[in-house]
Amino acid sequence: MEIKKCTMCGCEKIKKGKIHGMAAVVPLYYRTGMFGSALIVSFCSKCGEVLDMKVANPDKVKYQNEK
Ligand SMILES: [Zn+2]
Repeated sequence: MEIKKCTMCGCEKIKKGKIHGMAAVVPLYYRTGMFGSALIVSFCSKCGEVLDMKVANPDKVKYQNEK
């Protein structure tokens, strides 16, 4: 669902950004390798409130079954 309006200040300019590197989402139980994915965040251009966050490539996050 696309966010149209900031829930904090009502501003309608919502920007999208990407988090990657150290903040990448990785599986909870992973051993080695690059299994993470970037995060896409939608945030208000006025107050900076983060309104939505999603994993860019869920397929890249390889899960092992829990221990
Ligand atoms: Zn705002």
